[in-house]
Amino acid sequence: MLNIENLSAEIDGKRILDGLTLTVPAGEIHAIMGPNGAGKSTLAYVLGGRPGYEVTGGSVSFCGQDLLDLEPHERAAAGLFLGFQYPVEIPGVSNVQFLREAANAQRKARGEEPLTGGEFLKLAKEKAGLLKLDMNMLKRNVNVGFSGGEKKRAEMVQMGILDPKFAVLDETDSGLDIDALRVVGEGINAIMRKPDKGVLLITHYQRLLDVVKPDKVSILANGRIAATGGPELALRLENEGYDAVMETA
Ligand code: ADP
Ligand code: MG
Ligand code: MG
Repeated sequence: MLNIENLSAEIDGKRILDGLTLTVPAGEIHAIMGPNGAGKSTLAYVLGGRPGYEVTGGSVSFCGQDLLDLEPHERAAAGLFLGFQYPVEIPGVSNVQFLREAANAQRKARGEEPLTGGEFLKLAKEKAGLLKLDMNMLKRNVNVGFSGGEKKRAEMVQMGILDPKFAVLDETDSGLDIDALRVVGEGINAIMRKPDKGVLLITHYQRLLDVVKPDKVSILANGRIAATGGPELALRLENEGYDAVMETA
């Protein structure tokens, strides 16, 4: 589904990704762990097509398409969803407006009819319920004054409404307390744990992987994949640290 080959990328002339190769087939959740500054967020941004990140080598195919050839909105229309460590605030735009626009843009790209107001509200209520987010939160402006946990849950409501083929989630667990972590993790499972979907789950902590059980775990270090294993690799990292694991991987 997602096939990254020998990908290199720079920011301001500085090489951050350095020959990264990774394949995620449909039906898999692949966790990416790695030390600070390894290039995990850069990978997420490059996949999303964020300006300023220059791809200097390699290729990325997504559902058979050349992902790097697509504009960011075309990547979203193709079914790619990005969840960010620091969701942005959008003053003056309510969550309901934002989500309905996003959902209908997505449907348009798929050649589907837009949702009516009633259909949208039904969908939004269902996904908000899944994420235990009060519908009143969705009437407020996007992320403005939201706690860290509310932002992450609102972002997962967005993911549920968009129903993407593939999600790249960057430290979705950061800033979440234990209860919110479980709710968000179970939301990810409910929305994305399907045979025709895939997830790249970037995280520092085993605690998210206790809820969202990964099929594979890779360590990203110095801009490339240093090791890949099963869920036990994350447990070893938790117990032994990156240096020890990478020496013997
Ligand atoms: P991670 O998410 O794994 O902690 P990042 O992808 O955020 O790592 O960062 C990888 C490296 O790229 C770091 O050394 C960081 O300082 C550098 N970097 C990130 N963004 C920029 C930028 N806008 N300009 C210059 N260097 C950057
Ligand atoms: Mg980091
Ligand atoms: Mg990061």
